[in-house]
Amino acid sequence: MFGTSQSRIVIIRLNRAGYEAVFVGGAVRDYLLGKEPTDIDIATSATPAQVKSVFLNTVDLGTEHGTVLVIESGEPIEVTTYRTEGMYSDNRRPDKVQFVTSLEEDLKRRDFTINALALRLNGEVVDPFNGRADLSSRTIRAVGHATERFNEDALRMIRAVRFVSVLGFQLETSTKESIACLSHKVKTLSVERIKTEFDKLFRGASAQHALQLIKETRLSGALPLYPVNHELWISSAPFRSPMEGWASLMVTGNFKASEVAHAYKLSNKERIFLQAVQHFYSVRQQRAYTIEDYYKSDVITLNVVEKLIVEVDGQNGIEEKTIEKSIARLPIHSKQDLAVRGQQLMCWTDKKSGKWLGESLQAIENAVLHQEISNDENAIKEWFLHEYQHKE
Ligand code: ATP
Ligand code: MG
Repeated sequence: MFGTSQSRIVIIRLNRAGYEAVFVGGAVRDYLLGKEPTDIDIATSATPAQVKSVFLNTVDLGTEHGTVLVIESGEPIEVTTYRTEGMYSDNRRPDKVQFVTSLEEDLKRRDFTINALALRLNGEVVDPFNGRADLSSRTIRAVGHATERFNEDALRMIRAVRFVSVLGFQLETSTKESIACLSHKVKTLSVERIKTEFDKLFRGASAQHALQLIKETRLSGALPLYPVNHELWISSAPFRSPMEGWASLMVTGNFKASEVAHAYKLSNKERIFLQAVQHFYSVRQQRAYTIEDYYKSDVITLNVVEKLIVEVDGQNGIEEKTIEKSIARLPIHSKQDLAVRGQQLMCWTDKKSGKWLGESLQAIENAVLHQEISNDENAIKEWFLHEYQHKE
């Protein structure tokens, strides 16, 4: 049986109220591929107002676009009214959506045949564009006329290659040719939409193939920031995480972390991660890691750096296990792990807070990290009062 019990209840309730309701989109595709679906989407002939009248607990997710979030027994489920779309002239949202009552009309506006499938509660698959045949032959094919569809929304070209990466499928010839012809249109897209698709692309097992296609179709030339040195870039796929993908783009493109973060509007956290990779990558190009390096970094960052050292620089990398051990062996992992706080130092010395306090804590941190003293209050006190202070 498909879907969660809550999502089936949503469909049953809509059906009982006299509306058609079906599962659609990626979840149906993944189900037919025997994969665990991520988010479950429901499409219905009911208008947003009608959907809201059927359920007690709903949240508006942009009713002008037809989507209502139904909270059923604590589970949020997106319910979208059957609709057609016009152009995406701002390349963010369709200019006009028109609600319709025909499921087939709704499926027609979808990007690829494998995403234009619907599943009824009784298990019947609605497949007006032969999506199932394309699933079997592992093909990404635009619904209808590829050029028209990519002209309506240029993001579909990026989505095509991200599905190649995630599903390991091939691009159907005319779909690929249309991308090669219209790739420049990607320049007009909002970068947030591109970034979302790239995060998914980087997670795919066939990222290498997708990057190859980005080059062949010249999408590369239209993207905000993209490595000129494609061969290197392509060789470093697949990635273990989206951030490894962004880091790889940064290094093979010879870009700075801040440039990548700015061009693709990465989050602060993502920018900080890239900055750490940039720093430790340049460290590793010169020498092995020191205790300080292990202390200031973490396993995830250094694993990404090592991958780049191997793939991009062709050097021997340090194994993940070695990195893990080197970090685990450290006596402390941050200042918080120290057995003493500033308060104790003020008490021992009977001095007020001041510049000396930060410097002393720093010295203690260093001494503990390098195992000159053990991370124990008495040992630290002894060292601090009798060795450190005398040295000062
Ligand atoms: P995923 O498993 O990564 O969520 P998905 O196919 O569900 O993949 P979504 O971005 O969640 O992708 O979109 C849900 C569905 O909406 C798609 O399957 C497709 O039918 C339709 N869709 C999404 N974006 C577009 C678009 N730009 N143009 C046309 N149809 C789209
Ligand atoms: Mg989805």
